[in-house]
Amino acid sequence: MRAAMAAAEVGDDVLDRDPTMLALERRVADLLGMGSALWVPSGTMGNLIAAMFHLRRGERFLAPERAHILAFESGTAAWLAGGMPEALPWARPGRPDPELVRTLGTADREWLPTRLLCLENTHNVAGGTVTPVDEHQRLVAAARAADLRIHLDGARLWNAAIALDVPPHALTEGVDTVQVCLSKGLGVPVGALVCGDADFRAEAVRLRRMLGGAVRQGGILAAAGLTALDRLDSLREDHEKARLLADGLRAAGWETPMPETNIVMARPPEGITPDCLARVGVSAFAFGSMIRFVTHRDVSRCEITEAVNRVAELPGKR
Ligand SMILES: *Cc1c(COP(=O)(O)O)cnc(C)c1O
Repeated sequence: MRAAMAAAEVGDDVLDRDPTMLALERRVADLLGMGSALWVPSGTMGNLIAAMFHLRRGERFLAPERAHILAFESGTAAWLAGGMPEALPWARPGRPDPELVRTLGTADREWLPTRLLCLENTHNVAGGTVTPVDEHQRLVAAARAADLRIHLDGARLWNAAIALDVPPHALTEGVDTVQVCLSKGLGVPVGALVCGDADFRAEAVRLRRMLGGAVRQGGILAAAGLTALDRLDSLREDHEKARLLADGLRAAGWETPMPETNIVMARPPEGITPDCLARVGVSAFAFGSMIRFVTHRDVSRCEITEAVNRVAELPGKR
């Protein structure tokens, strides 16, 4: 990846003239079945640009509880895009009920008009849970019936597609805009793309400039993205490693469902905290009473086995 970055052909992307950037944007738009794509420095900026595009001040948007756009983007969908957030409870982990989308989408029209449904696939905090194609289509149909626009936070969409064994565009059907990350599992240092039709892209270029997200010789970063897209399939190994980790943790007395992608959400035996894990060299995040592990290309199967062995030796009440 570093070699591809060094060798990248570049231009000035502030002027929309960087050939490698344009090639990356075309490739991602095609993979996702969207008209066009625009590179942005982060998934957070991609989601914000979509929110700014869809929402007028005071309009409500719906998103599943604990969605990234609700919980981890410093409130920018409200702060900068002016949206009024409404969290949808999960019918299944990370997945809202289409009927509720229809009901809320049409409720209170005169008092608080609802404009937008934001979906998240996979859902990060729910544990990388996957919304399957038929359920995605039911959500899209419900949003359309309520006259809502649809944005998909697909930061981890690649993982969903691999888990379901479907092409990525099967999971974007019917949405107006979608954001995908090249960082995360794909291992690119900087970059995400936000996609929509040509009109969306034109406006997104303006919004990106406003937010300070336009870059000059972006081809250096785009080349990293193109390299990552060549190895999309390797995400499958991350999913296998997550299952290996979950099995090991369960055997050591942790409670954890079978992971659907590369995120393992687990409840430790009493007395085990992320600090205990850090002391034995295992990094993980606390999410309330749960601990979240993420597997990725830089952690090998051997290292997972080693981590499980170290965790199993920690003192804790089983
Ligand atoms: C990581 C993530 C983002 C944000 O991506 P950044 O590139 O870190 O800003 C958005 N949504 C979801 C679901 C994510 O997991």
